[in-house]
Amino acid sequence: MLDYGTVSCRIDLDSPGKRSGWLDLGHSDNRHDFSTIPVPIGVVRGGPGPVVLVTGGNHGDEYEGQLIARRLFERLTPADLAGAVILLPALNLPAVLAGRRVSPLDGGNMNRSFPGAPDRGPTAALAGFVTTHLFPRAALAIDLHSGGTDVDFITSSYLCLSADAGQNARALDLCRDFALPWTVVAPPSHTAGDLDSAAQAAGCAVISCELGGSGRVSQKALAQGWAGVLRLLRGAGALHPQAAARLGEGPAGPTRFADLGAGATHATVMHHGIAEPLVALGEQVAAGQALALLRDPFDLATPAREIAAVSEGLVLVRRRNALVAPGDHLFLIGPEMTADQLLRAADPRAA
Ligand SMILES: [Zn+2]
Repeated sequence: MLDYGTVSCRIDLDSPGKRSGWLDLGHSDNRHDFSTIPVPIGVVRGGPGPVVLVTGGNHGDEYEGQLIARRLFERLTPADLAGAVILLPALNLPAVLAGRRVSPLDGGNMNRSFPGAPDRGPTAALAGFVTTHLFPRAALAIDLHSGGTDVDFITSSYLCLSADAGQNARALDLCRDFALPWTVVAPPSHTAGDLDSAAQAAGCAVISCELGGSGRVSQKALAQGWAGVLRLLRGAGALHPQAAARLGEGPAGPTRFADLGAGATHATVMHHGIAEPLVALGEQVAAGQALALLRDPFDLATPAREIAAVSEGLVLVRRRNALVAPGDHLFLIGPEMTADQLLRAADPRAA
């Protein structure tokens, strides 16, 4: 049995075969005092090759990754694998069951809770179990996100840069294998407490992505994510090439790069209103271009306010809901990066 704080796992992760079960999460509140919270986990292991950890439901209202991880368990057999996959389709199960971004038990955002702690609530305990027991087993972690209820995201993988040029080069190779239409380039320490940083600190390669959003399932993003995950599993040496082809891997197309760092700007409203978007996700916009019209919710005589782009670039993220309040972002605009700009960003010595 594997233990970490209030989390325990009784299924065997290390022998060949195909098994599923649960991480038993304890939480002594009014509802769960005499219960366990069963977080589903699956393992499919063929040979002694590399292990890949695939997580969905890091945020509970992001569905494509949850479906991809469940589909992998359904369709993979041990004979397909030179190594193994460990699947956590509902990493933050309480958030998944609530259909919300964060856990209703402790308000915990899983992707701000790594590397985890045994005594800071259920979200940090689950993160700590992953850090302690799963990253050390895995050569690669694939963490599948979408925009969630509030935003729609261009279908993209994350290139999270570090100060280590070699690590950046390996991360770039993973993004090219994943081959989603876009790769967004994030600066070092983009978010504290995320799964990516904890995996890297444990010596486990990691890639994360955004597959659609708005709390719906995008069939297109699901198909792109599925094919990309199969390419990553095959590229890592965990999945036999013929199995990847049978399951629908397909060839890797080119990915384009966009700056999510210093070159990116938000279009933010500073009034209550109903926002009418004037641009679409993925559209190229100019600095000063009107992105939306904001109409006063009460006063018909108040002219609509124009919300303009602060900088030129692509619409990388779009807010779902039209009803907005001061401080709400409507869009995130980031410029496309040339190969030269990407090279300089990824190799600090070339800067
Ligand atoms: Zn997410």
